[in-house]
Amino acid sequence: MKKILITGAAGFLGSHLCDRFIKEGYYVVGMDNFITGEKKNIEHLIELENFEFVAHDVTNYIELKGGLDYILHFASPASPIDYLRIPIQTLKVGSLGTHNLLGLARAKKARILIASTSEVYGDPLVHPQSEDYYGNVNTIGPRGVYDEAKRFQESLTMAYHRFHGIETRIVRIFNTYGPRMRLNDGRVIPAFMGQALRGEDLTVFGDGSQTRSFCYVDDQIDGIFKLLHSDYIYPVNIGNPNEITIKDFAEEIIKLTGTNQKIVYKDLPVNDPLQRQPDITLAKKILGWEPKVERKEGMALTFNYFKNLSTEELYKSEHKNFSDFINK
Ligand code: NAD
Ligand code: UDP
Repeated sequence: MKKILITGAAGFLGSHLCDRFIKEGYYVVGMDNFITGEKKNIEHLIELENFEFVAHDVTNYIELKGGLDYILHFASPASPIDYLRIPIQTLKVGSLGTHNLLGLARAKKARILIASTSEVYGDPLVHPQSEDYYGNVNTIGPRGVYDEAKRFQESLTMAYHRFHGIETRIVRIFNTYGPRMRLNDGRVIPAFMGQALRGEDLTVFGDGSQTRSFCYVDDQIDGIFKLLHSDYIYPVNIGNPNEITIKDFAEEIIKLTGTNQKIVYKDLPVNDPLQRQPDITLAKKILGWEPKVERKEGMALTFNYFKNLSTEELYKSEHKNFSDFINK
């Protein structure tokens, strides 16, 4: 049985990755410090024979007994509200955490896949974004802590590959959504769905003309699975190229949820990318991968998840005035 370590296992993507690798017959070690993750995301795995959980902050030295075949490094705050709330931890997990995991990969002779992001392209001047675009990032802006940590993470990974010859993979993930996102993490999908469920107006930032391209979680996990097992070492975009403006998206959510609420406009956060769409030519070519789940279907599945959360969870909110907070 192949053994895989998944960091960020209690988070949104990490927990879905645990499910997928268990289903594929792997022995999975999940690691997390719960800084943005939730126990309930992995509760269903705890009793399984081929799952083990280690509570650990990966910015500290990682000790793991026995052999290890693969590592997926997914630990990192991932929403603008999270990485602004915990900026130092965000920088540390992308730099020190990645260093520890690359060291572990080297010691165990394990293949390691690193979770990077479309944020390495910053507010892109090239559209759609292909892997050869170097990006347009403000190092000292509010998003800099995340973007630069991820850019450093990519450099460190390539250095370990080139200098130590370890097997590395880099996925550049574009906005992904689905069940187990945190309702109060500030990202646009849980934000809009939470607002609809609480009977609040939907907050569109700026004039809503900025675009995003949303990928359903099952497609994303499948792309990552294929990339890990490929022999391609350079970054690969995984995302859904179906692009939409945030204003049109808010209108879709109003229809889907049947809410009577309206759209209200708030300030656009500083350095909020104005357009984002993955060029997935490379993933199609080398992985034979492309997304299959249409936004309508994926959003319905996601809304169904949020609808079934408890009233307590629905009203739990860390930051109500996200727009004010992010613009500081
Ligand atoms: P998430 O916040 O749901 O999950 C991140 C997990 O990492 C959490 O469980 C958190 O507790 C854990 N974590 C953070 N710091 C840690 C540390 N120092 N030690 C141990 N665990 C730690 O976020 P997500 O959406 O699942 O994102 C997972 C990864 O994918 C991140 O690396 C993120 O940058 C990347 N990513 C996600 C998206 C997306 O759309 N979801 C887009 C681009 C990149
Ligand atoms: N957004 C919005 N209202 C919200 C939350 C987000 O209009 O309540 C916008 C945000 O400004 C951005 C887009 O939705 O343009 C996607 O934001 P998200 O935080 O989900 O992810 P990002 O792609 O910016 O990292």
